Amino acid sequence: MKINPGLLKLELFCKGIKIDVSCDLSNDARSILRTRGGLGSGLELILPGGLYVNIPIEEHFVAKTPYVLLKNNSGYFIKEGNEVICKVKLPPKPKFYDKKTSSGKIMSRIGVMQGTYLGIYSARICEFWRMTPSVNCKFCSVGLNVGRTEEYEKSIEDVLETIKAAREEEKITFIHFNTGYLFGEELDMLEPYIKRVKKETGLLVGVQCPPNSNLSRYNHLKEIGVDHISFCLEVNNPKRFEEICPGKYKHIGQNKYWQAIEYCIKIFGRGRVAGEIIAGLEDSHDTINAIENFAKIGAVSTVCIFRPCLGTALENSNPPEPQDMIPVFKRMYEVCLENKIPIGIAPNIKVSLVLLPEEGKYFLQGLNKNFLVSEIKLNMLKFFYRAYFNAKIFFNKK
Ligand code: SF4
Repeated sequence: MKINPGLLKLELFCKGIKIDVSCDLSNDARSILRTRGGLGSGLELILPGGLYVNIPIEEHFVAKTPYVLLKNNSGYFIKEGNEVICKVKLPPKPKFYDKKTSSGKIMSRIGVMQGTYLGIYSARICEFWRMTPSVNCKFCSVGLNVGRTEEYEKSIEDVLETIKAAREEEKITFIHFNTGYLFGEELDMLEPYIKRVKKETGLLVGVQCPPNSNLSRYNHLKEIGVDHISFCLEVNNPKRFEEICPGKYKHIGQNKYWQAIEYCIKIFGRGRVAGEIIAGLEDSHDTINAIENFAKIGAVSTVCIFRPCLGTALENSNPPEPQDMIPVFKRMYEVCLENKIPIGIAPNIKVSLVLLPEEGKYFLQGLNKNFLVSEIKLNMLKFFYRAYFNAKIFFNKK
């Protein structure tokens, strides 16, 4: 049976998977660790084509999924109903997860693998969770995780030691730092981490924080070596934005996101700035509208599928239907090529939490000759950038 890996990734995001008793996840899989916003709360799998996916397994809607993960002598596979649809791989649990930093903290409580990169929420709890009444985003689980499943305090040394262990074992090339809302102090808090990481590892660094009112701060971020920056708009429709993200609505506002994205594209360049949006919390036309507008100004879209994580205000809601999401991901790919935005260039970055822009090609029907030319150019760019990056890392290690 020929499967479409992009479509399967989408189906699994939207429907989840049941775990058969034949599976031995405690020995064979990465631990299920809910950290940061909660999207990584599922099981990490590698689908045919090398697509990483983090699949919901414990949320209410999984009870109705047609997908089951099973194990036999030749490994793991997925069944849909009674039909085996494909073999899959489980990325093994990283050994560094159980190691301790020199201050005695368990490394999996400092950073977690999300696909092939390390994600670190290095700040205190987002202030939206601490306000009275709380105004946190309704899908978010940061306030349920920090201090419980992840460390409340993560020193620079803790972070650096965890990164070095992940680089050694998992050959990571990218570290993604994010914070919640900290009254505008987000970049002050992050910059010392970034400087040390860049100086001591040379790895690629991505930053995701609420937009800063002082836009010139982004010039400084570029100077200290940040490679990628993203802004979580989450919801494009203004009314839904107010309902779903009350803190962002009251204390930041949608305009600041667009201003920061536009400014950062001038500083970082096209394709190195992303606007994040959650599909399934608003009409898909609104999501597509955001994707098109991001692309017009040179930004890539990072589109997550809404996951009603346990314990959050939306835990009883449903994720979107895969059929409704196909036009969203198709458009996500098309607009990048139409607007000549480089995608998929950085080496060894496979993301399990979202469908990457380049994975949107799985939703195209037939061959588009214009896209073929753009794909060839992208592949050439990829080749040269990866050679440059590998040389940089090699000399950094010496
Ligand atoms: S800004 Fe919203 S999504 Fe981000 S950490 Fe705070 S509550 Fe969560």
